Amino acid sequence: MKITRVEAFHVNWGAGRSRSAWVRIWTDAGVYGLGEASPMVHGNASLEIIASAFTPDLLGADPLEARVIQDRLFHQHIKVGPEGAYAGALAAVDIALWDLKGKVLGQPVWKLLGGAWRRELPFYASIGGNGQRSVDEVCRVVEKWLELGPAQVKIRFDADKTTRDVDLAGDIAKARAVRTLVGDGFPLAFDSNNGYSVPGAIRVGRALEELGYVWFEEPVQHYHVESFAKVAAALDIAVSAGEQEYTLQGITRLIEAGVDIVQPDIVKTGGFTGLGDMAALARAYGVDLVPHQTQPSIGHTANLHFVASLTHSHHPAEYNGPYEVQDVVFKTPVRPKHGRFTLSDAPGLGLELDEGELQKRVIPWRSSAASA
Ligand code: CA
Repeated sequence: MKITRVEAFHVNWGAGRSRSAWVRIWTDAGVYGLGEASPMVHGNASLEIIASAFTPDLLGADPLEARVIQDRLFHQHIKVGPEGAYAGALAAVDIALWDLKGKVLGQPVWKLLGGAWRRELPFYASIGGNGQRSVDEVCRVVEKWLELGPAQVKIRFDADKTTRDVDLAGDIAKARAVRTLVGDGFPLAFDSNNGYSVPGAIRVGRALEELGYVWFEEPVQHYHVESFAKVAAALDIAVSAGEQEYTLQGITRLIEAGVDIVQPDIVKTGGFTGLGDMAALARAYGVDLVPHQTQPSIGHTANLHFVASLTHSHHPAEYNGPYEVQDVVFKTPVRPKHGRFTLSDAPGLGLELDEGELQKRVIPWRSSAASA
């Protein structure tokens, strides 16, 4: 079997919404797989890398050799990366190859990954934008999310990364109000989105410990690994990070600094192949891996397959939705029911396309290099 065509394209979800960066990889058997890249700046850079750098190497390759393909692509143009958009491009290709493999073999991806520990997956509500809200507004938004039955709630502050410690007392007040709202014992997590100095993070972290939060996410700038080490050493609460790491080596640095939970993302870290390596690494160190994931369709579904098969997974899957607007291109979107996502036996990722609805939204990526 050979790869015969690689389509890199945007899916335009309508005015005011971000576009998704997708890839569809076809074989001479007429089967295709779907993948998705990280959507930063609409995933433009990843689509260009797929179109101009990866496609010539993919054409003619055996699509079932995803690991070999990934290592070749990783090193072929490594000076363009290996982080950021480059890793996103690798991820999109890898996810598509696993979806394709599942369809060729007639098996769901979760089974090809070694089997599912659970096929009904609890999720945590990942609630952004709380830095700008009042204490009361934060509570109202959390209340609304609780109707979906999450196993945990995470409040994100989406800090302006050019500033530090803008409102420590206010952030703590919001954390306290949410604890009061949900009651003792309900799992809560707190994500500063890189908003604090080391002393600021320690102050907030001590409050979170008192309030019984499960984890404290990205307290400091992601590139200041030494700052993570200081914060993790000073606090008892689990410190988490890793959604801005793209390589096995980057995750290793965080673990060795003392981070307790790593959070690499399947659309940023080489798909199932890259994330699987990171899971093995985390297990070797005895550190939890809780994947970051906020892309509502392909990325989200791929992440659920991964989490279902993740050995010794103790935490719910991240859920940033609901995004009905993206469900429209699938006949079988994976939606939450009674606080759970359920994975089917359908081959690959189990996402059956509605071609008519998809084609209304597709904008092909036209690389000047590919057509030159
Ligand atoms: Ca985060």
